[in-house]
Amino acid sequence: MSHQLSRNSRRNSRLRFDYDALLHNFNRVKHYAPRSRIMAVIKANAYGHDAVKVAQTLKEADAFALAFTSEAIKLRSAGIEQPLVVLQGFDNLGTLEQMLEHKIQPVIHHQHQLEQLANWKGRGLKLWLKLDSGMHRFGLSPDEFIAAFEQLSEHRSVESISLMSHFANADDPAHELNQAQLHSFISACQPITGELSMANSAGIVAIPESHFNWVRPGIMLYGSSPMLNQSAHELDLKPVMHFTSTVSSIKQLKKGDTIGYGSTWVCPENMPVALIAAGYADGYPRHAGSGTPVLVNGQRTGLLGRVSMDSLCIDLRNIDASIDDEVTLWGDGLSVDEVAVASGTIGYELLCNAGNAARLVYN
Ligand SMILES: *Cc1c(COP(=O)(O)O)cnc(C)c1O
Repeated sequence: MSHQLSRNSRRNSRLRFDYDALLHNFNRVKHYAPRSRIMAVIKANAYGHDAVKVAQTLKEADAFALAFTSEAIKLRSAGIEQPLVVLQGFDNLGTLEQMLEHKIQPVIHHQHQLEQLANWKGRGLKLWLKLDSGMHRFGLSPDEFIAAFEQLSEHRSVESISLMSHFANADDPAHELNQAQLHSFISACQPITGELSMANSAGIVAIPESHFNWVRPGIMLYGSSPMLNQSAHELDLKPVMHFTSTVSSIKQLKKGDTIGYGSTWVCPENMPVALIAAGYADGYPRHAGSGTPVLVNGQRTGLLGRVSMDSLCIDLRNIDASIDDEVTLWGDGLSVDEVAVASGTIGYELLCNAGNAARLVYN
């Protein structure tokens, strides 16, 4: 179960999505949180993995979470029937009407949304109320949270209220804010009733007491590690996105020759170098430095010099390679997380950028 995306037949860079790996990773979520329902997070086009395909694959998911209403409507139009939760909620009553029409559940995270809801006359709205337990991005303060619950539980438009919060540092289980956030959420929810949800992927892996009724995995579904100190391989997560290209030319360079913009790589000896037709326009990170790992026919080597818009260069010293050989930028045998570390970012950003690169079309 996989499909390929390529930009066009002339170009060599390819994205392949392995949706069996997605199912495997979904089962890892069930392994970690066997008693919780699963709200699969598929915002940003499922982190670049095609939200409709991901939702169609995850038939067992109990709900899906998106960032925006337009994303949720797209899933409804594609025939997805599970509950859909929009993490940023609505910003005006027109959007709220659309949510009701498509049975989409907003997250209420700001007073402005409560003010708009106050005089609204719809019926049967299921919603989520979000507590700011310490991340200070989305969410109501503990006092606002209780007051909002009281306001909404008396509101004739509201059919159900579920309760959520979000960790800022779950990727680092030793971080002191994790327990503080957990306790803030537990104590804010104590006087009220509703289903509870707190754990993102890192909470699912490392903070079992945060699992509650619903867990909200994102990154681990796509096979990238949610933890700072554990690899995807150690967590038995498999990459879903495979970003490959081919060797488009090979040159013999001389000691002292420089490569690419800024001439940042200086050849320390006479050496073979390959040109690969993939660059930052494909979502490969421009900040990946010399030495960033790349596989050629499964052999590990490194990037040389700066990444260009449509090309990058790699080291062929001690590598057996010819023109048209396959190059793995990330995927099987090379986690996106390694490339992310070498580029000063996180796997999330690389997956989103490559998966959503504008020039991709179906093969
Ligand atoms: C993105 C997001 C998630 C998923 O986080 P991962 O780290 O990708 O598992 C969960 N909950 C909320 C509120 C989010 O915004």
